[in-house]
Amino acid sequence: HPPKRLTLLGSTGSIGTQALDVVRSQPGRFTISALSAHSNAGLLIQQALEFRPAAVVIGDEKHYETVKSALAGQPTEVLAGTAALADIAGRPDTDIVLTAMVGYAGLLPTVRAIQAGKTIALANKETLVVAGQLITRLVKEHGVGLYPVDSEHSAIFQCLVGEEQNPIEKIILTASGGPFRGRSMQELATVTKAQALKHPNWDMGAKITIDSASLMNKGLEVIEAKWLFGLRDDQIEVVVHPQSIIHSLVQFEDGSLKAQLGLPDMKLPIQYALGYPERLPSKYPRFSFIDYPQLTFEQPDQSTFRNLPLAFEAMRRGGNAPCILNAANEVAVAAFLRDGIGFLQMPDLVESCLSKVSYLAEPALDDYVQTDQETRRMAQEFLKH
Ligand code: NDP
Ligand code: MG
Repeated sequence: HPPKRLTLLGSTGSIGTQALDVVRSQPGRFTISALSAHSNAGLLIQQALEFRPAAVVIGDEKHYETVKSALAGQPTEVLAGTAALADIAGRPDTDIVLTAMVGYAGLLPTVRAIQAGKTIALANKETLVVAGQLITRLVKEHGVGLYPVDSEHSAIFQCLVGEEQNPIEKIILTASGGPFRGRSMQELATVTKAQALKHPNWDMGAKITIDSASLMNKGLEVIEAKWLFGLRDDQIEVVVHPQSIIHSLVQFEDGSLKAQLGLPDMKLPIQYALGYPERLPSKYPRFSFIDYPQLTFEQPDQSTFRNLPLAFEAMRRGGNAPCILNAANEVAVAAFLRDGIGFLQMPDLVESCLSKVSYLAEPALDDYVQTDQETRRMAQEFLKH
C-alpha cells in the first residue's frame, strides 16, 4: 500500500502526540501532510522539523513569527488563525484528518474535511455532541468514513465489524467513574482542581480530565455514540467499571453481548482508527488477567454527578440542546480550571444555560454557531452572579 497521508489537528495535545507515536512506530505506513497547535509553538516546531509536513497551523496568531522564523528554509508552509485550520483540513494532499483539538473549535474544520471527502479519525467528540445530526448527514452525503478514536466508541466500532446486517439492541458504555467515584455531594463541594486533574487510569488533556471527574465526559460520549451508531436514546446505557479494561459492550437482538478489552492506552484506538480496516502489529504492553483478578461494575451515581442526567436530557430534547450543554460545559470547565467556580457549580451552570438559551428543533450550521455564542454569553452572566 502507498502510505496514508495524515493531517493531525491538535498535534501537540495528548491524543496528537500519541498519534505521532503511532506514526513513528509504523514506519512506511503514514506520512504527515499537516499539523496544528493552538499556542504550543515550541512543540509544533519540533514536530514540523521531524515530520516535514507541507503545512502547519498555529492557532494563536501571536506565535506566528516564532514558528515562521524557526521553519525558514524548511518545506513547510506556516499558517496562523482559526480559519487556517479548516483550510488545511480540506487540502487535496491528505487522506485522513485526525481531529484531536479540544472543544467546539473542532466543528468547522471537521465540516470542511468531510466536504472535501477526507476520512475522519474522530477524537474531538464535542463536534458530534454539538452537531451530530448535521455531521452524520454530511458524512452520508459525501460518502466518507468516520472512525472513532474515543476508546469506548472504538470498542463498539470493533465489536460491530462483520455485524453490519445485525440490528443492535443496546450498547453499554463503560465509565471509570473518575477520581471522585463514591464521593458524596458534600465531599464534592470542596474538591480542588489538583484533585480533579488526577485521573486514576488515563493521562489526558485538562479539559477531558475535568469532564471525566464530573461525568460530563460520559454524558458527551452518550451523545457521541447516538450519532456514531445511529441509536435511539433508550438504547444507550452507562455502567461504571473502575479498572477501564472493558472499553464498552454491544448487545444484539439474540441477547448476546460483545465487548472489547485491553489495557487503558489510547494508542490502541488511535492506531485502529488510522489503520482501519487493517489491524497493524504493535508492541504495546499486553493485558493479563493475572494483573487484574477483579473486574468490577456498578451503577453511576446520577444524583451526585448531575452532568450525566443533564446530558441524557439534552440528548432527548435534541435540536440545539446538546450544543448548549457543550458550550456551557466548556465555559464551566475553564472557570473551574482558573478557580473561578467550585466543582458543583459546573452542573449548575450547565443546567441554567439549558433552561435559558433559546431552543431550536432543527438547527443548521449557522444556528449552531449562534447557539454556541449565545450560550457562552449566558454562561458569562451566570459567572458574574
Ligand atoms: P489536549 O488539551 O491535550 O490537546 C488539545 C490540542 O488542541 C492541542 O494540540 C492544543 O494546542 C489544541 N487546541 C487547544 N485549543 C484549541 C483551539 N481553540 N483551537 C484549535 N486547537 C486547539 O486535549 P486531548 O488530546 O486530551 O483531547 C483532544 C480531543 O480528544 C478532545 O476532544 C477530547 O475529548 C478527545 N479525547 C481525548 C482523549 C485522551 O485520552 N486525551 C480520549 C478520548 C477523546 P496547544 O497544545 O497549543 O494548546
Ligand atoms: Mg472515552
